[in-house]
Amino acid sequence: MTQARLMDGTALARRIVEETAKRAADLTERTGSAPCLATVLVGEDPASVTYVRMKRNRCRTAGITSRHVPLPADTTTEQVVATLRELSADPGVHGILLQHPMGPHIDERAAFEAIAPQKDVDGVTFASFATMSFGLPGFVSCTPGGIMRLLDEYGVDPAGRRAVVVGRSAILGKPAGMLLLARDATVTYCHSRTTDLSAAVREADIVVAAVGRPRLIRGQDVKPGAVVIDAGYSPGNVGDVDFDSAVERASLITPVPGGVGPMTIATLLEQTVDAAARQLGV
Ligand code: NAP
Repeated sequence: MTQARLMDGTALARRIVEETAKRAADLTERTGSAPCLATVLVGEDPASVTYVRMKRNRCRTAGITSRHVPLPADTTTEQVVATLRELSADPGVHGILLQHPMGPHIDERAAFEAIAPQKDVDGVTFASFATMSFGLPGFVSCTPGGIMRLLDEYGVDPAGRRAVVVGRSAILGKPAGMLLLARDATVTYCHSRTTDLSAAVREADIVVAAVGRPRLIRGQDVKPGAVVIDAGYSPGNVGDVDFDSAVERASLITPVPGGVGPMTIATLLEQTVDAAARQLGV
């Protein structure tokens, strides 16, 4: 068996960001307003600070302005909700990103639901989940949206194929499965209570690993010729898939880093420009 081909998320994300930058420049010229993403960060968790900084830097390179709203760690749910409602009503803001996790004292769902659906460019609200699941116009959760773009780029049609999604979080596993289902895959979800993960993975034509457990998926469980998408990330640039053994059996595989990761921010930027275009009526 030959080694799997790598799915290069860095290259695809670069092309998406270039295209997004062109659309942002065109929109700015036609309307006099640049697309604007508001970023809201509660507290100063170092990883979250870094993620928000990265997202704002990428906005800048794509001609998207960003408005950063840092809130102290002891901010209450009510205060976060009030901030998000203000941003939702502000015509100068086209997209809103609420960085999470936010700390156990905040009702994360209440906070997400304070984001107006037309500005939910990170795809975290109930409304976005519903439109995504029904295949209606709206915003998708960024990492699953990026995964689908990667599959399309490499000519993988999910229709009729068995997809196994390992992980069922609201921002990653669950929406990834819904997007695959919407594209006519036969979808199985696995999670921490799944009794025989190996057996489920062995059935998969497409595996999406979205757990956060280093090298949980082993090559011996990958069906020969399967497409392996590793969305997991643990410190030290380690994914959820044991790459060295899986690459020997898969037909296509995402590296970590450089696979799914860059696609998340590219999708966020693209959806911010989509939101601005809709709100500015162009
Ligand atoms: P999460 O909220 O912690 O969810 C993890 C999921 O994995 C849960 O559904 C959990 O099951 C399941 N799980 C845990 N242990 C398992 C096991 N032994 N076998 C099978 N399933 C198991 O995590 P998340 O936010 O979805 O993130 C998952 C990973 O993706 C992390 O590594 C994260 O860093 C990465 N990530 C990457 C990006 C990106 O841009 N590339 C974006 C977001 C997240 P239960 O539901 O039963 O608890």
